[in-house]
Amino acid sequence: MFLIDAHLDIALNAIEWNRDYRLSAHQIRESESGMTDKIDRGRGTVSLPDLRRGQIGLVVATQIARFNQTNDNLPGAGWNSPHQAWAVTQAQLAWYQAMEADGQMVQIQDAAGLENHVRLWLDASVSDAEKPVGYILSLEGADSLIDLSYLEKAYGYGLRALGPAHYSTGRYAPGTGLSGPLTPLGRELVKEMDRLGIILDVTHLTDEGFSEALSLYHGPVWASHHNCRTLVPHQRQLADDQIRQLVERGAVIGGCFDAWMMKPGFTQRKSNPADFGITIETIVDHYDHICQMTGNSLHIAVGSDLDGTYGTEQSPTDLDTIADLQKLQDILTTRGYSAEDIENIFYKNWLRFLRNAWS
Ligand SMILES: [Zn+2]
Repeated sequence: MFLIDAHLDIALNAIEWNRDYRLSAHQIRESESGMTDKIDRGRGTVSLPDLRRGQIGLVVATQIARFNQTNDNLPGAGWNSPHQAWAVTQAQLAWYQAMEADGQMVQIQDAAGLENHVRLWLDASVSDAEKPVGYILSLEGADSLIDLSYLEKAYGYGLRALGPAHYSTGRYAPGTGLSGPLTPLGRELVKEMDRLGIILDVTHLTDEGFSEALSLYHGPVWASHHNCRTLVPHQRQLADDQIRQLVERGAVIGGCFDAWMMKPGFTQRKSNPADFGITIETIVDHYDHICQMTGNSLHIAVGSDLDGTYGTEQSPTDLDTIADLQKLQDILTTRGYSAEDIENIFYKNWLRFLRNAWS
């Protein structure tokens, strides 16, 4: 079944991990055998051929580059000026554009493009192997916007969603594991997003940032890759009250397949998913929690994050590549979800959200 995944860091893998995503995940693993520079070397689960094989024909794909502030004690992954971070996001953009020129991907930035692309993916007479993977461009963490004028520039090349925060103090908003409100610049940012019609992604915001962003911003809101705090007690996940606020705003929440966000007690880069019994089915516990709260299946979907700087060492044990997300069909059926629920989760919820946002 056609599936929409609302969170992948595809270009980060192409540029900073030096992965040629035109190859299959298994070929990329092979090419990385013996490499030890990153923990997920030889363990990646995502590639363009595997997305097609798994009928994941539309993704929200990020640009991502942090700025290391002097008071950040967080390890690695950040740049020493917003200008460098901006330049990295532009390399990521250039790679997406090169994939478009190669027929591998196609950027989706408006309602007409969305309808054409979904029609193509639902057309069984065309082989999936010949279909480009559609991508909606999102910025994860706003540090790389040198000043607010860069947001309109980014909108011009197709940026359609933005999460102001990531994992750091943040120039616009403090991120995961921290506390505190948006910065003054962050408050201006969400107002400018409202003006431009850029979707607000609440993922990675602090609790204070979440409340403030929702009150300042009046447009469409989603949580691209986010699980439930009731099941995994950590600030990274959504508290029940936040889920209620999101549902009131018509949001959709993308269930995230990063093992530490699926079951409590898992330590990033240390624990083994097998020891915790983390499988693809584990995400359904999070889905069930949201469905019980809302009484329907209209607010849950997939935001896998499967190439978010980890691979099989931090993924469900029954997931070899991202194509295995199709196993969700049988799992959801066994757990009592109807055919209509499954279609909602696979693509109809994101599709409805995007149609509303871009109408
Ligand atoms: Zn993230």
